[in-house]
Amino acid sequence: MYDIGIIGGGTAGLTAAIYGQRAGKRTLVIEGLNFGGQIVNSPKVENYPGLESISGSKYSMNLLNQAMKLGAETASERVKEVREENGIKIIVTDQKEYPCKAVILATGVAHRHLGIPQEEALAGSGVSYCATCDGAFFRGKDVAVIGGGNTALQDAEFLSNYCNKVYVVHRRDEFRGESNLVDVLKEKDNVEFVLDSIVKDIEGKFMVERLFLRNKKTGEDFHIPVSGVFVAIGQIPQNEIFDGLVRLDENGFILASEDCMTSHPGIFAAGDCRTKEVRQLTTAAADGSVAALAACKYLSMNF
Ligand code: NAP
Repeated sequence: MYDIGIIGGGTAGLTAAIYGQRAGKRTLVIEGLNFGGQIVNSPKVENYPGLESISGSKYSMNLLNQAMKLGAETASERVKEVREENGIKIIVTDQKEYPCKAVILATGVAHRHLGIPQEEALAGSGVSYCATCDGAFFRGKDVAVIGGGNTALQDAEFLSNYCNKVYVVHRRDEFRGESNLVDVLKEKDNVEFVLDSIVKDIEGKFMVERLFLRNKKTGEDFHIPVSGVFVAIGQIPQNEIFDGLVRLDENGFILASEDCMTSHPGIFAAGDCRTKEVRQLTTAAADGSVAALAACKYLSMNF
């Protein structure tokens, strides 16, 4: 029996394991893909306090080692279900069942991809899904942001402070994001809107060299030379299997506030998988610690 079962081995989940172990609890972290989460793919992390510059893979390895040195156990398995029997939570994976007294859901999100031919091949070589993480590497360069939501608009604003030129490529002529953000961008000399345009491909041999676009209204095909492409077309939570166990919002994120409490006693949500405004490494780490301490409190009151 584990005190705390943690589903997801990204920053939130591994931070929860560190805090759980340090509080003397037996913790298990179950991860279906890569320990470390999304940040594993970032070439450099330069926005985490105290870590001036570190690769995403090194950061992730350090975090995993830290949790394991403290005694956290890990399993590389895919979680299928969580159910409750007589006050005990049972995490069911594709291989085993793990009884736990408390559970922390830290499943993160997946960035929605464009699904075009060269996107995966050039990921990390000019294609990025995180302007805050990677923007500084494009200082003085021309880049494009794809999307018309708040994330794309905020990314464009952020990048306009570093980059020579920022193209905002959106498939419609109206933005889903807030108009005041659009207004801010309109005032910027180095931001250009490319509307009604869909991305046909991202071209470049080893690094991104240009975008291949089609204007939906005129049918015209055209290219824009850029060094970076920031894809900001929404995020996909991966919480379907928890629907019914905990309450989800209309977009599929787990309803939990800053205390990381879900609608189900003894089940906590940490990091990008829960409803929140800011999804960053720092906020994931904060959530991991809050959720673990809340789980410890739940254990002391119920076991
Ligand atoms: P979003 O609001 O879902 O916007 C996604 C954008 O990407 C939309 O403009 C959409 O176009 C476009 N898109 C989707 N699939 C596409 C595809 N296959 N090809 C091209 N374009 C595609 O996502 P988000 O901007 O990540 O925001 C997510 C949530 O977080 C929203 O509720 C947002 O308001 C919130 N958020 C809030 C803040 C804040 O400061 N308050 C900041 C960031 C995000 P269409 O418009 O044509 O569908």
